[in-house]
Amino acid sequence: MTHSAILRVAVPSPLRRLFDYLWPANSGPAPLPGCRLLVPFGRRTVVGVLVEVSDHSDLPLNKLKSISALLDEQPLLPEPLLQLGLWAASYYQHPVGDALATALPALLRKGEALPEPADRHWQLTTHGKGLPPSALARAPRQQQVLQHLLERGTASRADFQQLGVASPVLRQLEQKGLVEQLIPKLQPFDPATLLSETPLPLYPQQREALESIELHGFHCYLLDGETGSGKTEVYLQAIEKVVRYGRQALVLIPEISLTPQTLSRFRARFNCPVAVLHSGLTDRERALAWNAARTGQAAIVLGTRSAIFTPLQNPGLLIVDEEHDSSFKQQDGFRYSARDLAVIRAHRENVPLVLGSATPSLESLLNCQQGRYSRLVLSQRPGTAQQPRWQTVDIRQHRLSAGYSRELIEAMQQQLDGGNQVLVFLNRRGFAPTLSCHQCGWIANCRRCEARLTVHRQINRLICHHCEYQHPVPGNCPDCHSAQLQCIGQGTERSEETLQVLFPQYPVIRVDRDTTRRKQAMQAVVDRVSGGQPCILLGTQMLAKGHHFPHVTLVAILDADGGLFSADFRAPEKMGQLITQVAGRAGRGDHPGTVILQSHHCEHPLIATLVQQDYRAFSEMLLAERRLTQLPPFRHMALLRAEAPDGRAAATFLEYARQCAEQLLPASPDTGYLGPLPAAMEKRNGRFRHQLSITCRERPKLQQLMSALSTALEQSSLGAKIRWSVDIDPQDMS
Ligand code: ADP
Ligand code: ZN
Ligand code: ZN
Repeated sequence: MTHSAILRVAVPSPLRRLFDYLWPANSGPAPLPGCRLLVPFGRRTVVGVLVEVSDHSDLPLNKLKSISALLDEQPLLPEPLLQLGLWAASYYQHPVGDALATALPALLRKGEALPEPADRHWQLTTHGKGLPPSALARAPRQQQVLQHLLERGTASRADFQQLGVASPVLRQLEQKGLVEQLIPKLQPFDPATLLSETPLPLYPQQREALESIELHGFHCYLLDGETGSGKTEVYLQAIEKVVRYGRQALVLIPEISLTPQTLSRFRARFNCPVAVLHSGLTDRERALAWNAARTGQAAIVLGTRSAIFTPLQNPGLLIVDEEHDSSFKQQDGFRYSARDLAVIRAHRENVPLVLGSATPSLESLLNCQQGRYSRLVLSQRPGTAQQPRWQTVDIRQHRLSAGYSRELIEAMQQQLDGGNQVLVFLNRRGFAPTLSCHQCGWIANCRRCEARLTVHRQINRLICHHCEYQHPVPGNCPDCHSAQLQCIGQGTERSEETLQVLFPQYPVIRVDRDTTRRKQAMQAVVDRVSGGQPCILLGTQMLAKGHHFPHVTLVAILDADGGLFSADFRAPEKMGQLITQVAGRAGRGDHPGTVILQSHHCEHPLIATLVQQDYRAFSEMLLAERRLTQLPPFRHMALLRAEAPDGRAAATFLEYARQCAEQLLPASPDTGYLGPLPAAMEKRNGRFRHQLSITCRERPKLQQLMSALSTALEQSSLGAKIRWSVDIDPQDMS
């Protein structure tokens, strides 16, 4: 090469573009895209990812800086993953450097080398084997290694640590070409040893679903199976098929620490390495698991949202379990949807994708209706287990004792006395959502948010659930000094006390964010409940997440009205999903289950449809509504948010944004603008929040608009004084 190459590098910065650097002509061939580099950036040196090698730059060559160092000999991000990251950055209008950094485990993002797994083994090279015994006499440590390997054949890092040999000694020998690392390759598994337990014989619908999943090539399937219908068994058997041929499966689930049962089922079934990626890992553990997937050593990769960016050596199948779950969409920073990226990834890697849920999102249901996805239905439960019976209690007519109607208390008593377990769902943690003064009507509000402070009695504090502001519970009203402060409303902490009084002879197990902070806390709950002793499980939406509690025969939903009258158009969909998922914990064993739902609006068409029919009818009703109101999934949506200590600045910025946008793409029957409007919670954490929503019939048009608009806004001085962000396909409108 006669002149330097230009390296186009993704650098972590708020700017939505690549930066050019020089690769000097005398440094040999340019590195490959996907390698990490150290590059000078402003006054710092940062870790970037090489995206492209070019012979041209828009800047004059003498303005370009050389890179500081090359960190990887081989691309750390393989081509398909690099492309996925670039696609996601562009689709979600996010700075590309930051998006690619998200794709890397923290350790590698910081520029460190890939950690060596403790089970890595070394052996002698042919050259090493032929060495005369005296050759290394002057380096006794190296001599010791050579001797050990001559006797044993291979040895692991741990073996050498026991001998007191440190890693640099091995590296020196490696550089001399005397020893080499033994990297186990993923082998096609012998079906006889792949499984450590016998798969369950599938019932006909399960078998039909499994057989419909075509394992060669790209296609999306929606496994639409009622709660407890055996979706996981279908996943396990589909995975078995691909792993048997030496291919890998990537499984995304909402929250691993909350669903320890899922992980144990995978571990119990398969004899092959399962890599697990979740937030509880140390940086080193995470990098190791990530690399095991990348090199193909892990046959199965199980992870939460960010695991969608795990490289796979030989992908065979992608699965997203509980695809409706909102945790798959990142709510801040890089606002990607792991479920939607799974579709893109499966398409690019040419493998099938299975989306599974008992309460599919309206997006996925519409994709089935339009023929893009195939819908596989499981409408029954295996064995004798049956879907629960539903019953509503109209709480307008009833006196409640601390949130419990007479009917509900009697039904609970009957089940508990019959030796069964009861689950009570109350989606509000803390003791009470409001503290108020009986004398003057004062209410404890958060100073930084437009919200009330929640009373947490066990730690005697008032806490804002939106900004974490805390304050001791006052003894007197700060306005009138009266001592008559009242807790109003029910949280799980208070309900726990109520239940202990109502049912003194049965244990109450409370499950919410406050009781499950410790690692393994959820596992402890699961173990206790699996014992089968009669008890009351009381908790928030944590109880809705895929748990299998076969001894629960009654599920009580204390207040079903949360999502009925919200400003967020997705609220009813989320409410229906949550109620159906919680209800699905009932009757999973041999005894039939009952669901009792308390509501002030039993006759509301949404509640009535959910109770008298099912989630399917409910979701069709919502789809019809969204079609009429021209909302997603019938329209594509982008939400521009702006927030500032001064509410006017945020609104002014969005007004300017709307003007820019309407010039690029005028409002029409196909393109709608709404806002700027104050957000549902206008003030949060001391800032006033406004939003502008843009809906469009065609996705590419919206994409083009958002890309041009983001660039324009990035350059506007109005944006400098406030915080603003773009959310493509927003899930949470609050
Ligand atoms: P889902 O994932 O749809 O909620 P699971 O896969 O957890 O359902 O299945 C619910 C229960 O039914 C589990 O205990 C599972 O072992 C059992 N099960 C699933 N499929 C079968 C089958 N074909 N035969 C017997 N039991 C089954
Ligand atoms: Zn008062
Ligand atoms: Zn607050």
